[in-house]
Amino acid sequence: MADIRTEIIKTVNQEYENGIVTMYEGNASARVGDRVYITPSHVAKPDLTEELIIETDLEGNILKKMDGLKASSELMMHLEVYRLRDDVKAIVHNHSVFTTAFAINGMDIESDALTEINLTFKKIPCIPYGTPGTPRIYEKFAECLKDYPAVLLANHGLLTFGENLREAYSLAEAAENIAKTLYVAKMLGKPADLPAEELELLRK
Ligand SMILES: [Zn+2]
Repeated sequence: MADIRTEIIKTVNQEYENGIVTMYEGNASARVGDRVYITPSHVAKPDLTEELIIETDLEGNILKKMDGLKASSELMMHLEVYRLRDDVKAIVHNHSVFTTAFAINGMDIESDALTEINLTFKKIPCIPYGTPGTPRIYEKFAECLKDYPAVLLANHGLLTFGENLREAYSLAEAAENIAKTLYVAKMLGKPADLPAEELELLRK
């Protein structure tokens, strides 16, 4: 298995190349046993190297960190997801434009017209606002996270999680694509909803 740090770097650079994060925004982490590896704060994506990835335990105690670096300000938010969801081994957080536009409006991403959202996510719920970098950002996680592979953080951005970094990344990419499609469809006309029985089939 490739070094998990290498995979984290690959993931955030993939996001950067695809325009779903900017140079300094967003973060990603992975869990291996009781260890968590996360991107540092204020390091440009193209400058990330394995030594710069920070290692912590599930309580947030820093186990390995290069001098002068700080863990992502959202470390505690990532840890809360790992504590709540044992199945989650990787998390991607970003402020991609179209998903964040839904989050700013406090809107869930859902549609009875688009197959993909129903197949992949059911819906992406928007959870209430909490100040970034503080426990308030994750105080609603316990009640909101359990049924979904992705959530919107109101007025902030997107959080996706999976069994590995590739899955968490692919969900972030899919969520942005879906949000964009729904926005454009709405601009263009009136999306045609699928019949209830077809929706039920998709959501199974
Ligand atoms: Zn953020």
